[in-house]
Amino acid sequence: MLLNDLKIGKKLLLINLIAASIAMTALVICITVIAFINNRTYLIQDLNTQARIIGDNLTASIVFNDQKSAQTLLEALRRSPNIKQVIVLNDKNQPFTSYPAKTSVAMNTEATFWSNLSYVTIQQPIQIGDQYVGAIHMRASLNNIYKQLREFLLLTLIAILLAIALGTFMIRRLQIFLTKPIIDLTNSMRLVSSTNDYSLRFNLEAKDELGELATGFNTMLSTIQSHRADLDHELQLRNQAEDRLQQLAFYDVVTKLPNRHHFNESMASTVSSSIRHNILCCIMIIDLDDFKIVNDTLGHHIGDDLLFAVGQRLNHDLRTEDILCRIGGDEFALILDKLLNVEQAKHVAQKIINTLSLPFHLDNRDIFIGASIGISFCPNDSTSISALLRNADSAMYNAKKLGKNNFQMYLPEMEAINLRRFELESALHQALNNNELFLHYQPQVDIQSNKTIGFEALLRWNNPKLGMISPLDFIPLAEDTGLIIPIGEFVLYEACRQAQQWREHYAIDTSMSVNLSGRQLIQPNIVERIMSIVNSTKLPFHLVTIELTESILMDHSQETLQKLEKLSASGFTISIDDFGTGYSSMSYLKRYPIKALKIDRSFISDLPDDANDVAITQAIIALGKNLGMKLVAEGVETEAQLEFLKTHQCDVVQGYLHSRPVPADLAEHFIASQKDTSYT
Ligand code: C2E
Ligand code: MG
Ligand code: MG
Repeated sequence: MLLNDLKIGKKLLLINLIAASIAMTALVICITVIAFINNRTYLIQDLNTQARIIGDNLTASIVFNDQKSAQTLLEALRRSPNIKQVIVLNDKNQPFTSYPAKTSVAMNTEATFWSNLSYVTIQQPIQIGDQYVGAIHMRASLNNIYKQLREFLLLTLIAILLAIALGTFMIRRLQIFLTKPIIDLTNSMRLVSSTNDYSLRFNLEAKDELGELATGFNTMLSTIQSHRADLDHELQLRNQAEDRLQQLAFYDVVTKLPNRHHFNESMASTVSSSIRHNILCCIMIIDLDDFKIVNDTLGHHIGDDLLFAVGQRLNHDLRTEDILCRIGGDEFALILDKLLNVEQAKHVAQKIINTLSLPFHLDNRDIFIGASIGISFCPNDSTSISALLRNADSAMYNAKKLGKNNFQMYLPEMEAINLRRFELESALHQALNNNELFLHYQPQVDIQSNKTIGFEALLRWNNPKLGMISPLDFIPLAEDTGLIIPIGEFVLYEACRQAQQWREHYAIDTSMSVNLSGRQLIQPNIVERIMSIVNSTKLPFHLVTIELTESILMDHSQETLQKLEKLSASGFTISIDDFGTGYSSMSYLKRYPIKALKIDRSFISDLPDDANDVAITQAIIALGKNLGMKLVAEGVETEAQLEFLKTHQCDVVQGYLHSRPVPADLAEHFIASQKDTSYT
């Protein structure tokens, strides 16, 4: 409705004007009707009076039938403008005379509603005493009354217009008392909703409904303000929680780097844009070498710190657009987008290898950790994300296989290697239960007496489907999967059981060397496990040699030292396997209770011709002797090598020259032959 859309001031004005107009119109109508009725009544009275006077004057004229004088008398009525017609009847009620003259038609005296509004008619008898002489009929027009009423209405209309003008002026002035607070309240409300400032208040000191409205408005604002504060607080908490969830969903807690989920998303967008614009990109899988050893020996806390430090160091060397993520335990992934060529990726990979070869100083010690990197390019190697990942993984395993601490780019033939690795891994889980694992024994011969003084137990795996598998292939796998723990215990038990059986059978004490992997040594209860297993075979501890590689001893941890000291004190011999190939720090030789060094066969193979190997072997022998250790040479294949080692006072030799690692029944011959010689 139109009224609804008007501002309150105008609405008020309009309502007032309408109400006033209706009231005034009603009043004017009432006054007009009353004035009309009164004036008509006065006119009738006036007519009756005039009729009586005229009747009296006409009496003689009627009696004497003097129409002329009667006519003259009636002509005097011209001075009364209201009177329009007069008819005078004689005593026989026949027209006697009329006014105006010659209109002696009988006057219709029957009054209708419309005739009442146009004229009034009266009739009166003319009498002398009681004698009826005639009658007079008079009719008067109401025009004069209407004229007066018109003038009255005109004046009234002017008065009404003046009253409306004055009223409008007054209403405009007075309505301010009503509309101003309402307008102010509306403006305040507009200000609040546009600024969202709920601390604003409306000041109106009135006790009427508007005052109540203002108080209500203020109360509502303070309620909203406090709700708003609560809501803001709640929103802040919710935002924090959302940020945290976002962080957890997309970022790794330990390194603060993007996680696998984030990686998958980044990878998807990088690969699709690479395909669309035909731009080279690559993914690198960076796997830390021997991280498990650090984690297990130094504890998860240091392991986590190391992972964080690795992430920081890597990120420092990368471009901002490169995406580095942690996608697994010790596995990082790097996405390099918009590469100009393959060389660029190779350069980055080498930089990572170099930077991770530098020691990490954590917990007051230097920790060395390398990395093996696999690289796969899009679109060169594949355009499928899963294939790219698989390829990079294959390349990374290849890098591990090639001696760790290097990078490899994916080649299609790696797929087969990777597949074999998975095959091996699943087969290895069953190997122990399926009795596919067994031991070969390689004799260790005293260089001076040429007698077999012991054996090294070497693990063999014959899988019905995969055939004979080299320990070089499956031992790292067993270490990665943790299967080395039950497998290692099997080896220790089987080797000692065999040695004790020979001992009981031939009554000759030969030592048994067993390889112990780093993953085994970090077991908290390893010393107790070793003792209990060896005890169960009844082989004396002093006949057991435990071969460890140098890398195991690099952690310098107190726990490793205590374990080795306990083993040594119990009679076990601790020997360093493949000596010379590991880390060149010699300090651990003095620190740990090491009784024997096994010179790596890479130094022996070119003896005595290679001057470097000659020098190294001589140096190792001299070092070992100085520290009171027994020297064992591995991989002795020729008489010349044997001769050289004999000349340089090596104590024991082990190698194909005397025997390859052989099954127990063949190894037994070496003890049996000694038994024979001891009798002769
Ligand atoms: P290793 O402990 O250094 O064992 C010596 C390796 O040298 C053996 O290889 C042996 O067959 C090989 N060898 C011995 N004499 C000669 C020689 O004259 N010429 C050549 N070319 N090689 C010779 P194998 O049996 O293949 O074992 C490889 C490695 O696997 C071992 O190196 C050892 O580190 C690991 N391994 C074997 N059995 C076990 C085990 O039971 N537990 C653990 N943790 N590791 C084992
Ligand atoms: Mg060994
Ligand atoms: Mg060795």
